Amino acid sequence: MTYAAPLRDIRFILHEMIGLPPSREEGDLTPELVDAILDEAARFAADVLAPLNQPGDKQGARWQGGAVTAPDGFRAAYRASPTAVLAFGDNEGAIGHLVGDANRGLEYMFVMMNLARFGVGLEGVALSERALQAAVSYATDRVQGTEIGVRGGQRVPIIRHPDVRRMLMSMKAQTEAMRALAYFVAAEMDQARRGGDTSAQAIVDLLIPVLKGWCTENAVEIASTGVQVHGGMGFIEETGAAQHLRDARITPIYEGTTGIQANDLIGRKIARDGGRAAGVAIAAMRGVVEALHGEELAALRAQLTDAVAALERCVRWVVETYAADPRAAAAGAVPLLKLFGITAGGWQMGRAAIVAQRKLASGDNADRAFYQAKLGTARFYADHILPQAQALAPTVTQGAAGVLALDEAQFAA
Ligand SMILES: Cc1cc2nc3c(=O)[nH]c(=O)nc-3n(C[C@H](O)[C@H](O)[C@H](O)COP(=O)(O)OP(=O)(O)OC[C@H]3O[C@@H](n4cnc5c(N)ncnc54)[C@H](O)[C@@H]3O)c2cc1C
Repeated sequence: MTYAAPLRDIRFILHEMIGLPPSREEGDLTPELVDAILDEAARFAADVLAPLNQPGDKQGARWQGGAVTAPDGFRAAYRASPTAVLAFGDNEGAIGHLVGDANRGLEYMFVMMNLARFGVGLEGVALSERALQAAVSYATDRVQGTEIGVRGGQRVPIIRHPDVRRMLMSMKAQTEAMRALAYFVAAEMDQARRGGDTSAQAIVDLLIPVLKGWCTENAVEIASTGVQVHGGMGFIEETGAAQHLRDARITPIYEGTTGIQANDLIGRKIARDGGRAAGVAIAAMRGVVEALHGEELAALRAQLTDAVAALERCVRWVVETYAADPRAAAAGAVPLLKLFGITAGGWQMGRAAIVAQRKLASGDNADRAFYQAKLGTARFYADHILPQAQALAPTVTQGAAGVLALDEAQFAA
């Protein structure tokens, strides 16, 4: 199947939601240059990277004649990756040199770790997009069943069935929310690095574990939904649907498992500053809620209001509980990360919907279908995804009793 980079959505987020050039024009960075880079990257992704995806899995790495044979394209891909194996102390022992100031190693390491974790979160977004495109393409071609409610009607492509639409919308809406959150974090990273903006850095530090954990766990779910859209063909290698799921499955593991991201979130990012950075994010979310007007955004406004309130309650609970009962806080850490991700995704969907609503109201007819689709995915996110945030709140605050109910021996009983 072919792949096309979602350039329209990328440009929407960068130019219309975040306001990257011209408002942040710097040096040679002009809107034209940004667009040219995006065009070229999209071409490279479609023409060079995407076709490499399948042979890698089909051929695999083999041990033949005393040597490892890598699949076609593997070596070329790894040449572009700054990967190395370092062996310390094999001959005369290892000698350590202090890099930077003493006792600041962990802080330095987190500069690198933030970038690595951001990159893997983005990998979750990319795999979700690819799984979505494959699922839409298959659902458009595959003819099965008749239209519900039409007696003796023609057989139709499965994209006409409401449950297939539900699956595709859940893939599309969540992928858009994840992409918008990822680019928002990237813009804050730029702001922190170039402008030395400490409040931007605090938001980056807070959101990195959320982005990494939420986008990668979602990618597994989205790729799995992609297999489901394919039905039995999801198990047939030539569709590639199962490979997306296999590729996605590593992402919640490497660069820190979801459990480790969640521990970081509740400990270093929430409890340590008494919930201050989370409070700033929550205030920004409330700002978006206040700007959601009109009947078409009413559902999003209602659901986002409740989700933000649930997030705030849980953050407060973590701040109050972490020192006194760290096991209870840790038992709710992954559910809180998920709640945070869902709510932060809703925040970005709200921002997207406000822009789309404004564009449609301006009478600009050039791209109406795109902006209407934005309102549609925002509506889906409001009704199908955001309610999960509220449902997770009692799991965060009361779930430890069940998590810790058994002693080790009882698991084997
Ligand atoms: C395909 C692949 C590629 C990789 N590439 C690289 C690479 O290039 N470079 C590199 O350095 N590493 C790489 N890794 C290693 C990867 O980063 C680790 O596997 C990952 O960090 C998990 O560590 P672990 O395997 O030791 O699991 P463990 O730490 O044993 O974790 C097992 C389970 O226990 C949970 N757990 C462990 N400790 C805690 C805790 N304190 N609190 C709560 N839960 C906890 C984890 O969440 C997980 O669910 C790769 C792994 C894979 C599978």
